Amino acid sequence: MKIKAAVLDGIGSTFEIRELDLDNPQSGELLIKVAASGLCASDLNAIDGKRKLVPFPAVIGHEAAGVIVEVGPDTAGFAVGDHVIMSIVPSCGSCDYCASARPNYCSTAGNAMSVGGLFDGTSRLSHNGEKVNHFLTVASFAEYVVVPASGAVVIPKEMPLDRAALISCAVLTGYGAVMNTAQVRSGSRVAVFGCGGVGLNIVQGARMAGARTIIAIDVTDEKLELARKVGATHTINASTSDPIAEVKKICGGVDYAFEALGRESTIQQAWGTVDVDGGLILVGILKNGATLTLEAGPFINEQWIKGCYFGSANLKADVQKLVKNYLNGHLFLDELISERIGLDGLNSAFDRLRAGEGARNVLVFD
Ligand SMILES: [Zn+2]
Ligand SMILES: [Zn+2]
Repeated sequence: MKIKAAVLDGIGSTFEIRELDLDNPQSGELLIKVAASGLCASDLNAIDGKRKLVPFPAVIGHEAAGVIVEVGPDTAGFAVGDHVIMSIVPSCGSCDYCASARPNYCSTAGNAMSVGGLFDGTSRLSHNGEKVNHFLTVASFAEYVVVPASGAVVIPKEMPLDRAALISCAVLTGYGAVMNTAQVRSGSRVAVFGCGGVGLNIVQGARMAGARTIIAIDVTDEKLELARKVGATHTINASTSDPIAEVKKICGGVDYAFEALGRESTIQQAWGTVDVDGGLILVGILKNGATLTLEAGPFINEQWIKGCYFGSANLKADVQKLVKNYLNGHLFLDELISERIGLDGLNSAFDRLRAGEGARNVLVFD
């Protein structure tokens, strides 16, 4: 079928809206009409080349939700008309990682992503007969997508699809970093460095985990205000005050410091706020080949550092839990959408994301 999509020809280029050919779903795949796709820092990292995540030309976008239009052969558990969120953690079920209950590291999916294809390594997207690559097996800056069914989760129809899209990456990552990666204890003290889409969901994850003190740190007052709305008990504007000194003043130090920017300087600041026996969780994604220099003294006090991929999410269970929490009013998503845009608004919306403005811009289709 013919679809309209935003195509990126290379690192640093701007999106071109083109009519592409999209092949039918193969075994284990779904054809989905995209309803909404959030603009995530991982998209920006691919555009700017901070991470080399996909060959070009490519259709970017991965934080998406939509409606199933066609179910590929041998694909159980899905029906035409089902509402789904799509994710960047499809799993083959048979590689070593899948077999040892670590499907988020599925090597079949990793190989497919590195060649811009789906599980068999080939692409369903083309332009005038030339291959166009899928980004992270999702490629949702497009009217329709073909994705591996194992990365999709059916959600109840009362869940609004634009807010469901946020769950598929920013919320799973932020909430999961708190609940799964760090396993934040009730009554603990938490600091969150960076209050973009993921950071704000770390803040609300900490609220849902029952943290006593939740300190949000950013350089824009607008985001700090949002952080208060979703659960921060204290905020620090790091452009006007020293976050380490301020955190110590508020609570002496934290049990968990989350860094959601992927920058050495903020990681060093976050490490400086961790109290005895506490930990630093690296949620932000660092540049390819980056190194870190950190003061080693705190290790004597059993302070620890942990990496985080996709909030250590248990995809299906966490999505259902988060949808339920949105519908019963415990998870705040309406507040996180700063703007809804069309395909032609992508370039300027990414400029705003690059400048650190707003929480989440979401591409929506009628
Ligand atoms: Zn993302
Ligand atoms: Zn696998």
